[in-house]
Amino acid sequence: MTTYDNQNIFAKILRGEIPCEKIYEDDYVFSFKDVNPQAPSHILIIPKGAYLDINDFSKNATNEEIIGFNKSIPIVADQLGISEAAGGKGYRLISNAGAEAHQTVAHFHVHLLAGRNLGPMLVSIK
Ligand code: AMP
Repeated sequence: MTTYDNQNIFAKILRGEIPCEKIYEDDYVFSFKDVNPQAPSHILIIPKGAYLDINDFSKNATNEEIIGFNKSIPIVADQLGISEAAGGKGYRLISNAGAEAHQTVAHFHVHLLAGRNLGPMLVSIK
């Protein structure tokens, strides 16, 4: 996908057109529970701006947006108590970009996974 479709599901969540379980929001980001969790804690963090993936975001977002997005990660992780800094056992970030990474929603997002031992980074590499 090379052009942003403002009818994607995360754009609709941002506009409040479909419900979600909100975790955190500020001027730059919105964060909510993944509807199909892959770990006891599976949270998505998305920028409020319209970016396809991290490639688009890191290339085209303003420095303010990029800093705001990055700063939201420990805020969410501490709020959930999953960062070691907040007494948790740690977490993993994943961001899929494009077809072979199996990105299914073309609005940049980071998956934040925690709450169990997540095992090796990838199940298999060929
Ligand atoms: P990706 O495959 O990296 O693009 O991840 C998209 C994620 O969005 C998947 O983990 C889905 O479970 C999640 N998802 C899709 N629709 C919703 C929704 N309405 N609310 C919350 N999460 C969703």
